[in-house]
Amino acid sequence: MQAMTQEKTAPAIEAKPFASDEARWQAVCDRNRAADGQFYFAVATTGVYCRPNCAARQPRRENVRFYDTIAAAEAAGFRACKRCRPTGKSIEQTQADAVQRACRMIDEAETPPTLNVLAEAVGMSPFHFHRVFKAVLGLTPKDYAAARRLERLKQELDDGTPVSQAIYGAGFGSSSRLYETTHATLGMTPAAFQRGAKGKQIDWTVTATALGPLLIAATGDGVCMIEFGENEAVLEGELAQRFPSAQRSRADAALDRHVAAVTAYIETPSRGLSLPLDVQGTAFQRRVWRALQEIPPGRTASYGEVAATLGQPTAARAVARACATNEIALAIPCHRVVGSDGRLAGYRWGLERKRALLAGEKKAG
Ligand SMILES: [Zn+2]
Repeated sequence: MQAMTQEKTAPAIEAKPFASDEARWQAVCDRNRAADGQFYFAVATTGVYCRPNCAARQPRRENVRFYDTIAAAEAAGFRACKRCRPTGKSIEQTQADAVQRACRMIDEAETPPTLNVLAEAVGMSPFHFHRVFKAVLGLTPKDYAAARRLERLKQELDDGTPVSQAIYGAGFGSSSRLYETTHATLGMTPAAFQRGAKGKQIDWTVTATALGPLLIAATGDGVCMIEFGENEAVLEGELAQRFPSAQRSRADAALDRHVAAVTAYIETPSRGLSLPLDVQGTAFQRRVWRALQEIPPGRTASYGEVAATLGQPTAARAVARACATNEIALAIPCHRVVGSDGRLAGYRWGLERKRALLAGEKKAG
């Protein structure tokens, strides 16, 4: 196996923005989101300090002081604003999280949840939630649900599901024209939004394994990517391509436990691997991936057999495609799926690795 390259891309160093009081005051006047985290402002008359983009009423210039850090503002005797909560998650982050959660609820429901149900789940009033959702995503929850259904329908049709069944499976009503038009209003597809992981924090690390360099990445909800690659730079590039809108940080220590579990599995494959996962995919892909996790270590199943367990015995090709798009190597064991004649067929990370994993799993199993 090739040695890992150690090169790291240094972040571009820019002149520090919002350095002068003048620039800072301008940012406060503009409620400039880009200034969030760059500095804090405190208001002498209220004793409160805020993020630059706090939505509260704007103070008078002569009462405002600027601080570089939260600690400095607190040392000067100010307390955190309850509205913009400078010590908590950013407003943008909180809203993106809420929207992401709502999207997932919509994605996973057979029939779209009502506005009230969604709002309550994310702890907002229906009115506020509706506004936030639209601000973050550029469309209403209802339009999102409609567009998502259309996407699901297209996916099912692509996967070879008979049209009538696909329409049913996608949860479609009858007035498909409505959905077509709402889809056209999307600047990007819901899937693209979801895939980009806007507003998500992703920790990642690369570790050397007996099967080559391996990237492990996780959100707060679980592992979102496990990928073999030639070297660290290539793997980091793939992560960026996969989650272009997420905040990605190298965090070796934070992923210690996952790394230990994965390397233990590679050393002794017969023990299997179970990790908390944060997977994104169509309803069909997720069903396939779940089915793969039920194949025990040391066993294999054909694409057709997996399709049959899903109740769609003719969908072997679609199952193969779902395996090929699996982004979580090992933990979603697509390596346990083989051709109907028992041949290894394909593997996203190379047949050599597939062969080694299956041989290892069988050894003690
Ligand atoms: Zn505030």
